[in-house]
Amino acid sequence: MNRHIEELIKLLGEDKVSTDPITIKLYSKNAVYYEGSALAAVFPESTVDVSKLARYAYENDLKIYPQGSASEIVGSSTPREDGIVVNFMRMRKIKEINYVDSYVVAEPGVRLIELNNVLRRDGYMFPIDPASIKSATVGGAINSGSGGMMGAKYGTMKDWVLGLEVVLPDEDGTVLRLGGKTTKNREGYDLIRLIVGSEGTLALVTESTLRITLAPERVVTVAGFFGDLEDLMACVVEIKKSKLDVLIMEFVDDATAKMTVETLGSKVVGEGHLLITSVSTVDEAAERVRDALVHIYDEAGANKIYSALTMEEAEDMGIFDIRRNLYPASIKMASMGLRDDEEKPYIFVEDISVPPTKLVEAVRRLRNISDKYGFPMVLGGHVGDGNLHPVVWIRESERDKMEQFNKFVLDIMEMAIELGGVISSEHGIGTVKKDGLIMSFRSKNSLKALRLMHEIKKIFDPKNILNPDKMLPSV
Ligand SMILES: Cc1cc2nc3c(=O)[nH]c(=O)nc-3n(C[C@H](O)[C@H](O)[C@H](O)COP(=O)(O)OP(=O)(O)OC[C@H]3O[C@@H](n4cnc5c(N)ncnc54)[C@H](O)[C@@H]3O)c2cc1C
Repeated sequence: MNRHIEELIKLLGEDKVSTDPITIKLYSKNAVYYEGSALAAVFPESTVDVSKLARYAYENDLKIYPQGSASEIVGSSTPREDGIVVNFMRMRKIKEINYVDSYVVAEPGVRLIELNNVLRRDGYMFPIDPASIKSATVGGAINSGSGGMMGAKYGTMKDWVLGLEVVLPDEDGTVLRLGGKTTKNREGYDLIRLIVGSEGTLALVTESTLRITLAPERVVTVAGFFGDLEDLMACVVEIKKSKLDVLIMEFVDDATAKMTVETLGSKVVGEGHLLITSVSTVDEAAERVRDALVHIYDEAGANKIYSALTMEEAEDMGIFDIRRNLYPASIKMASMGLRDDEEKPYIFVEDISVPPTKLVEAVRRLRNISDKYGFPMVLGGHVGDGNLHPVVWIRESERDKMEQFNKFVLDIMEMAIELGGVISSEHGIGTVKKDGLIMSFRSKNSLKALRLMHEIKKIFDPKNILNPDKMLPSV
């Protein structure tokens, strides 16, 4: 047995350390086929366990690859054979809920859906709602800096973390408590914001205090199809001008909507680009809000309109299905015709943002880029905050076109930068977007920022044992 495994078992107990090859394989994959390998999968149950692990790893130069549910799609959670996967699924207690002071205290393995199921019973919610909400964990969402469909109204994870307990990868396995339980905090540099979105490269999150908010009393949803993209954007502008309290504003382009319906089916069908808008309101105003929204869609030229007066009704009608099925449909398309024993396609979920007023141009340019390179593209996103998710892929049999494919992906990111946007909005950098990160900082003549990030990494993780080689490109 590897000496590290023996020591880890002594340190934590046998039931927290698995060397079973199938278990290791299971915990070495992310959601898009990036697959690593590891010496063992370790399942800590407390901060003390994590601290012991960190101290041992520091003393013995063992790499640690932290993991929630591994639903990330950029390679940020996949381990390598030089280290151990530390999976937080056994630390999944909601320790405290305080509605008066508007926070919850949760362990990192709590899934966002579990948190919301508890909060919703009392009329509250945690508003970060990635499409992967059923699997995403608090620790993973914090470290990814996740967002979701309600991003235009509620921002991303960085806006909702009040306090963190973290373990440092140092000689003591130091436990730090940062921030607290108040919404206002000006105690020195904001280390919490540094850790949020750090992709498990700075510290191991063992507990967090998250801000919560009231759930809307009523959510009214309208969806419609537009033959013309300009008409859809005109609709978006009118909705924004109408001062309705927009909660969700999602877009799927015409080809993608058609493909999704053909591939996975949908109760909601129509010709053209799909726009879905959900508005937060009160019971008494629901019908008035619905009529106002439908009127705006109608005036803007929607050819088919669906509406629901509650979220439950919207779900029953399948209003969100096309948008939610964007990714599963791409996987299905990318894998169509492949035998079980054939290599899975390499799927790349882009995550650019542009200022919302630049969306029409961005969509046009994206289509031109896709035509130029001849690779298929599935396109949807969060129109409310300008975050687009073009999904592109290449098959093993097209390996000779890999260079072209990489250029295609870089062109997408370059376009976002040219329009004043960013190359990653909520998924992160991982191992796959490092070139994009260099391109972005270079475009701002600010490569030094990346060198500063390397220095910060060294301060937190002097031996480079925590999720090494993730996120930061060499500069
Ligand atoms: C179908 C699909 C849809 C998605 N939709 C969205 C979306 O709408 N919005 C969005 O933002 N993301 C989305 N994602 C990406 C991903 O699901 C989210 O980022 C999610 O929050 C990750 O949570 P996780 O628990 O799976 O984290 P993991 O994937 O396990 O880890 C993510 C990162 O956090 C680190 N990490 C995990 N736990 C800890 C810890 N306790 N301490 C230190 N580091 C840790 C990991 O090392 C890794 O770098 C989607 C993914 C899929 C597959």
